[in-house]
Amino acid sequence: MRRGFTLLVAWVVVIGLVTTAISLAQEYPTFEVHEIIQYKALPQYSEAPELAEAVARGELPPVEERLPKKPAVIMTSGMSDGPGVYGDVWRTVSAVPTAGWNWAAGVVGGWFGIEECMQEGLVHTGMAWRLKTGEPGPNLATHWEWSEDGKTLTMYLIEGAKWSDGHPFTADDVLFTYYDCILDPHVPSWQGAGTWTVGGEVAQLEKVDDYTIRWHFAKPFPVYLLWYMGYLNFSVAPAHVLKPYHPKYNPEKTYEDFINALPPHKLPPVVLGAWVPVYFKEDEALIMKRNPYYWKVDETGKQLPYIGEFYFRKARAGIQRDLDLVAGTCDQTHLETPGIFTFISEQARLPGARFKIIPGRWTLTFALELNLSLYQGVKDERDRALRELFRNLEFRKAISHAIDRETIARTLVPGPMLRPLPSGFPSGADYYNAEAVISYPYNPAKAKELLAGLGFRDTDGDGILNWTSGPLAGENLTISVKVHEDQTACIDIVEMLVPMLEAVGIRLVPKIVPATVGQAMDTAGEFEFNMTRQDFLSAPYTVLASLAPVTAQTPNWHRAGPGDKRDLLPFEARMIEIVEALKYEVSYEKRKELFSELQKLWTENLYTIGVIEGIYNTAITKRFKNIPIGVPARLHQWFHLNVMQEQVWTPKEEQLPEFLPGVIVKYSKD
Ligand code: CA
Repeated sequence: MRRGFTLLVAWVVVIGLVTTAISLAQEYPTFEVHEIIQYKALPQYSEAPELAEAVARGELPPVEERLPKKPAVIMTSGMSDGPGVYGDVWRTVSAVPTAGWNWAAGVVGGWFGIEECMQEGLVHTGMAWRLKTGEPGPNLATHWEWSEDGKTLTMYLIEGAKWSDGHPFTADDVLFTYYDCILDPHVPSWQGAGTWTVGGEVAQLEKVDDYTIRWHFAKPFPVYLLWYMGYLNFSVAPAHVLKPYHPKYNPEKTYEDFINALPPHKLPPVVLGAWVPVYFKEDEALIMKRNPYYWKVDETGKQLPYIGEFYFRKARAGIQRDLDLVAGTCDQTHLETPGIFTFISEQARLPGARFKIIPGRWTLTFALELNLSLYQGVKDERDRALRELFRNLEFRKAISHAIDRETIARTLVPGPMLRPLPSGFPSGADYYNAEAVISYPYNPAKAKELLAGLGFRDTDGDGILNWTSGPLAGENLTISVKVHEDQTACIDIVEMLVPMLEAVGIRLVPKIVPATVGQAMDTAGEFEFNMTRQDFLSAPYTVLASLAPVTAQTPNWHRAGPGDKRDLLPFEARMIEIVEALKYEVSYEKRKELFSELQKLWTENLYTIGVIEGIYNTAITKRFKNIPIGVPARLHQWFHLNVMQEQVWTPKEEQLPEFLPGVIVKYSKD
């Protein structure tokens, strides 16, 4: 009877898996660039009613004068529902404090979509998933061309686009962003000179004219850099606003002044994005209104965005966004806490549910990082002995064989939304190749055998293996595992790993720390095991430097020690070569071959030890239109960029009242 029930459950799970696999394999449309976006003049333009009223009052120039001569036209052929109507508010939650608006100096606006509303890059990395090329799409750079020798890249900028205060956007903004923010070592930008060093030399950027820039590289075709020219890494900064605060242009200012030049209460900030913050109250809310100077239109000439307002409720924990969605006060969330997957799915299936689930990809990744550095964070002989042990493949195999991934997946969420991850990339990742994965699945007997082979024996009979040689001889084999307290799922997983490792004779001790402390421990290399969500692996080409020991800080689990000391493991030397080759590889097929080799090395050598992978689903209100079919919660970018928020609209009769109706973005004269 019991067996029959178990079998039935197993079958439901298997059928669920098959159905999910089929539904995930569904084709989503891909496009040529010109089917999604073009840059061209249209016979006429129109604007949101509140902006038309402001024009009538003499507070704004007419829409034709605010738009570029050739605005970016979001094409009907790339829309799921076609051109829309103005109005509505997009309600969501931000659970990270808003520190200010100087994004080029690494100042956080509050994540959760806030930065994507305001910032624009040279290229559009969130468009890549829908493009046949799989490459970044155009944005502020309308098109670009490589020289024949691959050592220069000329980019053409949109002409006549304006910042939200009406000031022209030009190549000067781009050069300021590159030289005075990204490359300036005193400015804590998201990327530094290391990323932009090609063939041993930092790439140079030349202003050809106001709307043409030219990159100069020491080595041909560093194509990976296109991925660093988009949102966040290269969100263009307003030079006319920031130069007066930068020590290079104003000797009376310090770098501290520059970094803090745009505090959160200084409203509205000057942006190129579709929405502009106009209201902020700490711990309460951030409200943004449409940018009157936004430089994108639809094919009928309507200035975008359609949705007039963004409302971010300020909260303490990310899970609040999911709860608000269910309560009907939030319009979208990406589901990253497996513990409530089932609850949200049940709510979405209820009759009259106001939201639906967009099935995502297998890009939610949970893995163990074993600290492989012999120098960074090594303070005593215990640290040294453990690192030596972690660097032994037989030990990493033992850990992998000790983990019952099926049980962890099913305990976290019954059903098909989680499954074992052997090691390496999640199966929904770009360039994933199932044939390049080598796995060491659950086999506790094998784990014990491997540990015995390494000399471990329970000499005192307490059930935990003892070291039998070296400085720790006689001690039990005890290992701490760092977990960040905000990563609920990682804590759940570690709680299940403790008895699994104990069953093969290892005592695992969870060390749960606040994220800020955990990040400091990462930097200092002061952890033994690290249980973490490896979101960055969903699009490996966009994070090449994080995949192998190519910078002193990467990968997290094998940082260089003081004086750049690092003893590479044999397979890491080849990984470095692969990553270097990938930087300059133009062909997708050849990249795939290289990534397959990297993935084989990663999984065969258990570079990290995978635990489970999950589907990164999106839950979204049913009233929104133009949500692209199959839009991923996380791939090269987060949902906010993947969806192209400016094209989203709501039918009139379903629109909600705005929190600040009739308010338009205005700047004081001083
Ligand atoms: Ca013992």
